Amino acid sequence: LFGYVGIEAVLDQMKIKTMKTGFEFNIMVVGQSGLGKSTMVNTLFKSKVSRKASQPSQEERIPKTVQLQSVTHVIEEKGVKMKLTVTDTPGFGDQINNENCWDPIIKYINEQYERYLREEILITRKRKIPDTRVHGCVYFIPPTGHWLRPLDLEFMRRLSKIVNVVPVIAKADTLTLEERAEFKQQIQADLKTHAISVYPQEDFDQDPDDRVLNDRIREKIPFAVVGADQEHQVNGKRVLGRKTKWGIIEVENPAHCEFPLLRDLLIRSHLQDLKDITHNVHYESYRVRRLNESNR
Ligand code: GDP
Ligand code: MG
Repeated sequence: LFGYVGIEAVLDQMKIKTMKTGFEFNIMVVGQSGLGKSTMVNTLFKSKVSRKASQPSQEERIPKTVQLQSVTHVIEEKGVKMKLTVTDTPGFGDQINNENCWDPIIKYINEQYERYLREEILITRKRKIPDTRVHGCVYFIPPTGHWLRPLDLEFMRRLSKIVNVVPVIAKADTLTLEERAEFKQQIQADLKTHAISVYPQEDFDQDPDDRVLNDRIREKIPFAVVGADQEHQVNGKRVLGRKTKWGIIEVENPAHCEFPLLRDLLIRSHLQDLKDITHNVHYESYRVRRLNESNR
């Protein structure tokens, strides 16, 4: 009918637009204290995602996190700017009574939806609403090797209703490979039994190709990760890792742990999908809930 239209030129326009404005991506780390959350934030920024970006310079011991705290880095690659923010949270579980320990985290997540909503319903809206919404919440599971504790189940159940939850097995270097594999299967079974739907949620697969790709990821979740913020010399190369008596655990080496899978999922392969689901599913249900409330 039209002959050749040349729609693919739109791709270039989209690309140019993204290059001009850049985009925001926000991650949060959650879990009991001492599981390596703050270390993982540094690992993420020091690993290959931001080798060229400005780096956190301090090499001191990480202090105990006492409040919610966000770190932002602007990462630029091939002219595209990504503003990556990671929100670190104080660990819970120090108290004998952990009742409602999820409250401050859930409050924070909802507050970001609320902010966005307030901008969105203004008569004169900003052309681009600042986005502080949490696109991915990495939940740290203690490496007990047994099963999920009621506290972790309850926490993830609550989180999974309002945000994309990406569970990880923390400090995986404390488990043998067999223990990691067994624990992983146990966790997958526990999540299924309790109907907790973590990212990537089966309900939101777009098409059969998506399903195949995501099924492969679902088999590997939760990723068994190791964090480190120190560099070491290995075969003449500097690598990020943990030095032990027996050698160096290289966090970016897929043979050593699954940190590379976590990073690739968050920052490469599924970044846009995490943003889309946040906007179309989680934010949308917040918005509907809020507007219903105020109409009453
Ligand atoms: P947070 O309380 O969850 O923020 O935990 P931190 O990041 O402060 O780490 C607590 C302690 O665990 C520190 O001594 C870290 O060096 C150590 N640590 C962090 N990540 C790992 C890991 O992957 N494996 C091991 N064995 N220790 C870790
Ligand atoms: Mg901490």
